[in-house]
Amino acid sequence: MEESLKKKMLELVGNNIRFDFPMSRYSTIRAGGPVDAFFVAENQYLLKKMLAFLKEKNVPYIVIGRCSNILVTDRGFKGVAIVLGKGFSWIEQQSENHVCAGAGLNISGLIEFCKNRGLMGLEFLCGIPGSVGGAVSMNAGAYGKEIGEMLVELELINSSGNTETLRKDDLVFEYRRALIPTGSIITKASFHVNKTNPGDVSKRIYFLLEKRKKEQPLDKPSCGSIFKNPPGNYAGKLIEDAGLKGFRFGDALISPKHANFILNTGSAKAGDILRLIDFIKEKVRDRTGIELECEIKIIGD
Ligand SMILES: Cc1cc2nc3c(=O)[nH]c(=O)nc-3n(C[C@H](O)[C@H](O)[C@H](O)COP(=O)(O)OP(=O)(O)OC[C@H]3O[C@@H](n4cnc5c(N)ncnc54)[C@H](O)[C@@H]3O)c2cc1C
Repeated sequence: MEESLKKKMLELVGNNIRFDFPMSRYSTIRAGGPVDAFFVAENQYLLKKMLAFLKEKNVPYIVIGRCSNILVTDRGFKGVAIVLGKGFSWIEQQSENHVCAGAGLNISGLIEFCKNRGLMGLEFLCGIPGSVGGAVSMNAGAYGKEIGEMLVELELINSSGNTETLRKDDLVFEYRRALIPTGSIITKASFHVNKTNPGDVSKRIYFLLEKRKKEQPLDKPSCGSIFKNPPGNYAGKLIEDAGLKGFRFGDALISPKHANFILNTGSAKAGDILRLIDFIKEKVRDRTGIELECEIKIIGD
């Protein structure tokens, strides 16, 4: 990125921006190359100001939540990564059956709030290390439920910089994908919940977290499931049946516990992970004819 652009961005948003930022420092898999700029938007005003500037200068951008489902290539992303900061990390109960949260809030914050108030319905999300915006954008799900089912409405800033409210019926949710207008940034979302007593919600959360601990390798950095489950099948089972559990390139390891997880066991590069992904796809394709599709988003050159 040109120095003159960097200077203008600094003038625009002050210290909330870092340049040539290695995404390995932020991503849950602790791997990934640099982005030209990493901008934490503390509020709507700064976000809109930055979006208008990027549009005027024709600079590409991507919005990032907790980077728990994104892998940035080692060569990196030539553009700005936008993260929603404190001004987007709030939550409130709107009525007995509705909660509304800023898109920058961690899923753990959403779950904790619901637990304390005895609001049931979203606990299937517990243990997902993402943000509310990332979870909605990915239509995150577990144990047969998806966040899109619980959505009431969301607010976003579209690529022209205007705020829009979309109700659930205006949106299409697919397996690990919400179809939201290209280039838009979700800023808040509200969800259906059911009032019950906090003890019941706590018990359900405890049960689901224990189940996760048993089934998933949570002791090493990862981005969760790498591949989508093909119709009528499980990616993890296909990888395991191909004999690939425990296979590694460099420090990128196919988890011996859950074959759809690639773990960073030290200082894996994005390149090691991508090589492993290609290798898995090839082996599963050769063996079964099934083409595995990545669930994670791969960003960069
Ligand atoms: C240990 C582990 C377990 C996991 N378990 C699950 C699971 O059970 N179920 C599941 O579905 N996923 C799971 N994941 C994957 C991941 O946590 C989810 O997909 C999560 O919802 C991603 O949220 P994020 O904030 O990290 O988004 P990111 O990874 O940062 O981004 C993902 C996508 O969302 C977009 N995005 C992010 N924020 C916004 C926004 N505000 N507006 C518009 N678009 C946005 C990004 O541009 C990108 O396309 C797991 C990951 C890990 C590491």
